[in-house]
Amino acid sequence: MTIKRETLRKDFPILDRKVNEEPLLYLDNAATLQTPNQVLKKITEFYQKSHANVHRGVYTLAQEATQAYEQVREQVAAFIHAANAHEIVYTRSTTESLNLVASSFGELVVQEGDEILLTIMEHHSNLIPWQQLAKRKKAILKYVPLTVDQTLDVHAFKQQLTEKTKIVALAQTSNVLGVTNPVKKLVELAHQQHAYVVVDAAQTVAHHALDVQDLNVDFLAFSGHKMGAPTGIGVLYGKSELLKAMPPIQFGGEMIENVTKTTATWQPAPWKFEAGTPNIGGVIGLGAAIDYLNHLEMSWIAATEKKLMMHLLPELQKIEGLTIYGPQTVERHEGIVTFNLAHIHPHDVATGLDMLGVEVRAGHHCAQPLMAALGVESTVRASLSFYNSIAEMDRFVYALKMVKEFFNHESE
Ligand code: PMP
Repeated sequence: MTIKRETLRKDFPILDRKVNEEPLLYLDNAATLQTPNQVLKKITEFYQKSHANVHRGVYTLAQEATQAYEQVREQVAAFIHAANAHEIVYTRSTTESLNLVASSFGELVVQEGDEILLTIMEHHSNLIPWQQLAKRKKAILKYVPLTVDQTLDVHAFKQQLTEKTKIVALAQTSNVLGVTNPVKKLVELAHQQHAYVVVDAAQTVAHHALDVQDLNVDFLAFSGHKMGAPTGIGVLYGKSELLKAMPPIQFGGEMIENVTKTTATWQPAPWKFEAGTPNIGGVIGLGAAIDYLNHLEMSWIAATEKKLMMHLLPELQKIEGLTIYGPQTVERHEGIVTFNLAHIHPHDVATGLDMLGVEVRAGHHCAQPLMAALGVESTVRASLSFYNSIAEMDRFVYALKMVKEFFNHESE
């Protein structure tokens, strides 16, 4: 395992740089994953050798670009085990994918008095689109709370589902609590009430193998940049019959079949949702990122990250005055740990760590309703990935202790 990691770290030259004259220790992988050389090389090759617009030309370059663009759709479908590549819509990001479902599908199925069920741990991008839809439709927005151990309250979820629930939208893995929700079971419960389920897989896609058919989700969203692809490319998976029923929400070139002065007809899904010139380079990068993850093997990635967290969590729990949010057991923890140090502002903790070369996130993590439920305004978040090592976990804990000592002295 160590040999594999040492070799693969060479794929990420950024990991060799210094920050504040210290070796970089990147622990903000939940915000964005670093991009391996293989992805950068594939994108460069595309621009050097096959760059042209897609779906538009009969000439060789255009055909090559279109073929590459559509072939990645097949790859994405295989990666998440979708039944059909036509169930894969390219978007800009998780955020755009979720907005697309809310604005198109949500408008179609949600009526006045209907209920939309979210969880309190949602990222704003799986919350505000539904909040705004509920406002437009005079629908009722409900939130599943947390249990005392700060995981999703499945019992409350069951109780809050009613025959009026039209949509359930939830994160597969929380970007704050680091917990993965039992999506398959929740989907079963939601479907018993004839509700549709929209899953935000932004924090799952680069860490566990996904199977949308096994989970039986209706929609699933994720971002390429959290899995080694560049920014600006995302995916919306939707079941064929649902995508077919949905109206497009952006109009222009590429997405039409026929246009007259007063009317227009659309391409079938997924193309009717991809108006204008898409992010072709981003799609090529997404394909290369999937190749990269497949080459490492998702089971190896999951096991490696679990090992790191098994080392890190107990060490953090030993630090006096450090409060960890989310489950306290490593079994329920993905590679994300969120915490506060008593009497030290999270931004001070993050700034102190940065001085030591350790990059972590501080703030509300785009989850203000969750922060309110936890009774805090902000926290510190460290998120790891397969390229991190046990030695880095130790260095992080050591740095945290130094920061704690520094600020405790300051306030004396
Ligand atoms: N959902 C979750 C759970 C996330 O962690 C993030 C990224 N922080 C998003 C949605 C939004 O992703 P993006 O900014 O790429 O649209």
